Amino acid sequence: MPDMSMTKYPMPSQDPDVRVTNFGEVALGYDEETAVKEAQRCLQCKNHPCMNGCPVNVHIPDFIRALRDGHFLEAYGIITGTNALPAICGRVCPQENQCEKLCVRGIKGEPVGIGRLERFIADYYSSHEHPEPEKPLPNGHKAAVIGSGPSGLTCAGELAKKGYDVTVYEALHIPGGVLVYGIPEFRLPKDIVAKEISGLEALGVKIETNAVLGRSFTVDDLFDDGYEAVFIGSGAGLPKFMNIPGVNSNEVYSANEFLTRINLMKAYTEDADTPVQHPKKAVVVGGGNVAMDAARSVKRLGADTTIVYRRGVEELPARKEEVGHAMEEHINFMLLSNPVEILHDDKNNVSGVRCIKMEYGDVDASGRKSVHEIEGSEFDVEADCVIMALGTSPNPLIKNDTPALKTNRKGCIEVNEDEMTSIDGVYAGGDAVTGAATVILAMGSGRKAAAAIDEAIMNRK
Ligand code: FAD
Ligand code: SF4
Ligand code: SF4
Repeated sequence: MPDMSMTKYPMPSQDPDVRVTNFGEVALGYDEETAVKEAQRCLQCKNHPCMNGCPVNVHIPDFIRALRDGHFLEAYGIITGTNALPAICGRVCPQENQCEKLCVRGIKGEPVGIGRLERFIADYYSSHEHPEPEKPLPNGHKAAVIGSGPSGLTCAGELAKKGYDVTVYEALHIPGGVLVYGIPEFRLPKDIVAKEISGLEALGVKIETNAVLGRSFTVDDLFDDGYEAVFIGSGAGLPKFMNIPGVNSNEVYSANEFLTRINLMKAYTEDADTPVQHPKKAVVVGGGNVAMDAARSVKRLGADTTIVYRRGVEELPARKEEVGHAMEEHINFMLLSNPVEILHDDKNNVSGVRCIKMEYGDVDASGRKSVHEIEGSEFDVEADCVIMALGTSPNPLIKNDTPALKTNRKGCIEVNEDEMTSIDGVYAGGDAVTGAATVILAMGSGRKAAAAIDEAIMNRK
């Protein structure tokens, strides 16, 4: 008999007042007993609607049944049949818009905690003895992957499983893309990412770091080296800034730079090579997930933190769960407000942000209510640090070096339904194609591209 509780079993987590003083993970994960209880909430629907919401097609009822029956390693095998990064997805997938959105238990009550169960299984696997995966037999073909974010890693893993000799070329010194330099440690510990990447290396994936396509080598060099296909998963790492006076003052960061310093360079530790100042009062501009991550990070450095966003609370684009976490951590929300100037002292150090109040107007062409400034409503917010989280776009470096690669007006690489670009044998996916999106969509595109690469190479034989 399924467990008919209307709500998910609660996720244990660090107390808000404690966690704002450290960078440790906020959500602590289910223990075995709770995971089995949550698994018992699954109705094992024959038509498994939840699976239609998963871009990598995890066999959800099957893995939940194995978990429910205590066969945790079997559950891991089922998940990793289609998803090479379960500990990551279980933590950061926006499940409420994916698998869990379509779970029938969500019609009256809360859906099954699919992400929490996936995380439990992945963590169980890595903390218990398990048989090492068998290395696939080589198939004699070579493929290159640019970028080691979720799209590139997934594409590489899928090709390696089919026996390809795969090398991932990564511009930075550590692989993982946004998983290591963007998403903070308190949501996604970096040792978890490293473990999942070493699982891919065990399958035979080779990773070369400090290798920049468009600087160190070109797409033609790769074909000359015998690669038969190239997948570009270079992400969308170019930050946008506001064109307002004072934006070049000291201690104005893009969220990308700020989070990279914190996550990748551990700038919050005393012996960091690239320290950031520990601000007293920080303003974060923007209302998306990146803004929440930046605000929660700077809060952990001890700053009284305010998020400034031009629309109202209902329209914050960030996940509700992340907004809730930020509110629990006493981050201030200054809504329907927009910066018009960054104020600074005579040494060009930030001293505050001049904002203006916004109000709603008519519905615009996009179907959303427009917002506009209220004349004469300017007010100042004190700050010694400003972080801009206004979105990102793909870096033009690869396009500039590869003129035959077609991109759209936003700089995103154009692909066909098989993820192939305008250059034969060159595929692309993830944020480089869609613009800033999600981990699981990037992984879905990497998986799709790997299947298309395999089909093209096998048909060519
Ligand atoms: P990326 O992860 O950006 O990886 C691209 C990689 O390519 C990078 O490592 C980069 O260094 C490398 N590269 C770039 N150019 C070159 C070059 N020329 N040569 C070689 N290598 C190159 N999504 C979620 O689903 N859930 C979340 O909770 C979430 N939180 C986020 C928080 C932050 C702060 C940010 C910034 C994003 C977040 N996202 C989240 C979005 C998600 O991380 C991205 O959609 C996803 O990482 C995109 O994957 P990708 O593989 O396309 O690119
Ligand atoms: Fe859901 Fe993400 Fe897991 Fe798919 S990978 S089942 S979308 S949590
Ligand atoms: Fe289980 Fe929900 Fe999927 Fe049904 S829809 S199989 S209840 S997870």
